[in-house]
Amino acid sequence: MADVACVTCGETGEAIATPLFLGKLEAEIKAKVCLSCWKKWEGMRVMVINEYHVNLGDESGRELVRKQMKAFLKLGEQADSSKVAENYRPPTN
Ligand SMILES: [Zn+2]
Repeated sequence: MADVACVTCGETGEAIATPLFLGKLEAEIKAKVCLSCWKKWEGMRVMVINEYHVNLGDESGRELVRKQMKAFLKLGEQADSSKVAENYRPPTN
C-alpha cells in the first residue's frame, strides 16, 4: 500500500486508507500523516472532548477539536492563532 512522509512523527509510514469524513482537511491529512499517528490522535481526540467538555453538535466545539487536531498532527496551525489566521481560507483551486 501507499506510504506517506509523515509530518507528525517525521518517519515514512503507512498511509491512511479509510475515509475520515473531514471535508477539506481530509486530503491534507492523508497526504501528510501516517496511520499510526492518526490512531494516536483518535485516542487523544477522546481526551480532548472530555477535557474541554466539547459539544460536537456545536460549530465552536467542532472548531476546537479541529484546532487541537492540527496542533497534535503538526499541520502548521498554532492552537492560539490570531483571528485573522483563523478566518483565513485558502483558495480551493
Ligand atoms: Zn506519523
